[in-house]
Amino acid sequence: MRAIRPFSVKLNDGYFMPVLGLGTSAPHKVAKSPVEKAVEKAIDVGYRSIDSAYIYQNEEEIWRAIRKKIASGTVKREDIFYASKLWCTFFRPELVQIYLEESLRKLQLSYVDLFLIHFPVALKPGKDIFPKDTDGKTIFDTVDFCTTWEALEKCKDAGLAKSIGVSNFNCRQLNMILNKPGLKYKPVCNQVECHLYLNQNKLLDFCKSKDIALVAFGILGSDPEKEWVSKNYPVILENPVINAIAEKHQRTPAQVSLRYQLQRGVIALVKSFTEKRIEENFQVFDFQLTPEDMKTLDGLNRNLRYFKDDVFADHPDYPFNDEY
Ligand code: NDP
Repeated sequence: MRAIRPFSVKLNDGYFMPVLGLGTSAPHKVAKSPVEKAVEKAIDVGYRSIDSAYIYQNEEEIWRAIRKKIASGTVKREDIFYASKLWCTFFRPELVQIYLEESLRKLQLSYVDLFLIHFPVALKPGKDIFPKDTDGKTIFDTVDFCTTWEALEKCKDAGLAKSIGVSNFNCRQLNMILNKPGLKYKPVCNQVECHLYLNQNKLLDFCKSKDIALVAFGILGSDPEKEWVSKNYPVILENPVINAIAEKHQRTPAQVSLRYQLQRGVIALVKSFTEKRIEENFQVFDFQLTPEDMKTLDGLNRNLRYFKDDVFADHPDYPFNDEY
């Protein structure tokens, strides 16, 4: 087992995960080139957790940056917590380990620290990330994600992934895995959209009751430039209440939004490819929001999703029709 590091939490399988990680999902036109410099900068600043995925199409650039930092002696491989995700076109159990082995080979890695099911809906296997028929409708696949989970368990047993988890699962779907006959490993986490306008209180309580970490994405309201993010929605960082609390603490609205998550026991991801913001977003460990601040911030919730993931909406496993 790894040594305990500051600002990490113990997952339900005994491994440790940093409570703040760098996100790397960006609009396709800027996903690749700036990420390399951003990851280098982040490691210099102190980030040790990097979140990526097959569909971000920038894992090779990320690892080029990490390898540079390992070569220069700034970090060792075991200091880095790297998360990747299984895309929906690889859900057939016989494809999972083959996919992960091939991905590790390309990245010149022997393991990932965390391997997640990206979204609980299976898509037709093949080269297309979003397979569509001639009418433009998404082509789904009929795979029970519980059988995909069993394949992830095998990846953990094979040492290809230290920890395994899920993303974008609702409470009912988490229960399907937890109550699966023969379950070998619980998911260590559920990575979901979570921010001041969608605070996920109920899902968070449920996850805590099962010792599953809730990992938040979209904490700053994400980036409306991204192809799959809803446009013309209220901008979290412009909210006057958040700005007033930020001013009181002489911090920025982004720092308050991140600190809010840390103080309620949520693991936070935040993406920036801008040097100054990468630094700013890491400066969240040296101030404290008061209980009154936390209560006020809780009150901003309006159950608003920036990520509706409509391409999956016609599938019975689409997760966002349930309350949580
Ligand atoms: P975030 O909420 O982290 O927002 C990122 C946006 O905020 C970028 O446009 C960034 O711009 C900007 N920004 C960053 N820091 C600041 C700051 N201090 N002040 C003002 N603006 C700032 O959204 P993401 O959607 O990127 O979520 C974080 C990560 O979570 C992703 O990158 C990805 O790794 C993961 N994720 C997972 C999903 C899943 O389905 N599992 C879905 C979505 C995200 P700039 O880069 O120009 O600085």
